[in-house]
Amino acid sequence: MERTPCDLLVFGANDVVTWVDGVAGDSVAVLDGKVVAVGDQASLRAAWNPAEETDASGSVLVPGFVDAHTHPVFAVGRAEEFDWRAQGVDYLEIARRGGGILSSVKNVRECDEGRLTEIVEGHFQRMLGLGTMACEAKSGYGLSLDAECKSLRAIRDAAELTGMEVHPTFLGAHMIPAEHRDAPDVYMDLLCEEMLPRVADEGLARAADIFIEEGAFNLQQARRYLERAKELGFALRVHADQFNELGGVQLAVELGAECVDHLEALTDAGLEALALGEKKTFAGLLPAVPHFLRQSIDAPARKLLDAGVPYFVATDFNPGSCYTPSLAEAAHFARVRLCLTASEALYGVTAGAADSLGIGDRRGRIAPGYEGDFLMLDLPDIHHFGYAFGECPVM
Ligand SMILES: [Zn+2]
Repeated sequence: MERTPCDLLVFGANDVVTWVDGVAGDSVAVLDGKVVAVGDQASLRAAWNPAEETDASGSVLVPGFVDAHTHPVFAVGRAEEFDWRAQGVDYLEIARRGGGILSSVKNVRECDEGRLTEIVEGHFQRMLGLGTMACEAKSGYGLSLDAECKSLRAIRDAAELTGMEVHPTFLGAHMIPAEHRDAPDVYMDLLCEEMLPRVADEGLARAADIFIEEGAFNLQQARRYLERAKELGFALRVHADQFNELGGVQLAVELGAECVDHLEALTDAGLEALALGEKKTFAGLLPAVPHFLRQSIDAPARKLLDAGVPYFVATDFNPGSCYTPSLAEAAHFARVRLCLTASEALYGVTAGAADSLGIGDRRGRIAPGYEGDFLMLDLPDIHHFGYAFGECPVM
């Protein structure tokens, strides 16, 4: 039989996690950047003639990770603040000392666009090295028309420079900036009448996001912002129920948001809304955040999964509340703090994350037609995923 040429054969893995029924084996063939076959080595060798081969013995092949919640556009970290928090300094005092989200805003506003792009490029490189092949990336440390557009252009340009597949999200409603502290409605006007329309016109983001929380935005402001964003064609992603339940989950479900993230303070009413929502709104689980913030409360992940709510696991990579770009690490925390199994955690950083971004038909799984971006993990079997921590299994 004539063998069909392909670019790459990765063969002999201990397992291939495909997330597709009926697609299984120990080897994968790739042509033109796409998976063309998954199966056992002998049958793939009989059908395909590869230009290159990789021996995957001793490893597990999994889909390339997808990080569906990141904040990579910050100019400097906030390590000093991490020390202050260790010493018991509270949120308000941190803000008084010049820390918190507004310190990141000051730094981003002052940072020149070329330099900011280099910094984001560095973050994407680290993520790629840790197995993240696609990500959602939010602005949100600019909080002015110019600084938000600059942040979104930095995301776009850094994506091009690194090859990371990036899905940009406008998070102008991350916090009320200092200059509008006493007149939040003026900032809401600016968001709805100038910033969202400009970002839409320039095609700088596919989704819009808001932080619904005490000290950030209330439910009424969120409704106005999200309805305006929806009208302008943005997909909606929402931060809600992190510390306080303000009804943000129900609002997100009502407006057909793609996801609502955090959920540590989720109530039964919110859970019910997610379970019964017509357009399935994903639960975004960010289990490394409460760890980083030394909180004892976690999202009720088991209840969400039992209720059939679609979910993903993400890093929430940012300088203030979760300084890791590693999805393997997030998966470890999903196993320890959310009591997910290895499979559930892996599904959350691959298929679940891809589905939440609307790219689940070409990413997050290993099957013919999918992107050839899969990972060799240095693990004997899938049960070891998220078992070790402090080291990266990506080979
Ligand atoms: Zn976030």
